Amino acid sequence: MEEDKLDNLYQEIILDHYRRPRNPNIVLNPQIHAEGFNPFCGDRIIITANFDKDGVVNEVGMEGEGCAISQASASMMGEILKGKTLESISILTETFRGMMRGNNLSEKDIELFGELMALEGVREFPVRIKCALLAWSALDEGINNYKK
Ligand code: ZN
Repeated sequence: MEEDKLDNLYQEIILDHYRRPRNPNIVLNPQIHAEGFNPFCGDRIIITANFDKDGVVNEVGMEGEGCAISQASASMMGEILKGKTLESISILTETFRGMMRGNNLSEKDIELFGELMALEGVREFPVRIKCALLAWSALDEGINNYKK
């Protein structure tokens, strides 16, 4: 695929998640509750999640406002969390951070990330990296609080 066509496709994915965020709710009595705020563009995210008895995420809620990148990143993150354990979520978060820092992902990770790959191009815009990472950093904090 040509480079600019790929860019267009990625932009469409981001805008689609921004306009129709997935799991736009707050989970009742959440085991994980995290909030993120990015003063740079006023992005806010509230993440709530619950696990089943095997420690697998079975409920996810994402609420927020702000720029398309922050909200799309949260929406895509919520989608990928379902069915994952805390341990695999930590690995996923590290992989995502690595991608934002400029790492190239393995084919296996690219497959796992799916639509999240649409955010890869954001790393060319350093001021927007925070937007893409907001939900992930908040989730990380929420998981650490939960473990305590
Ligand atoms: Zn933003």
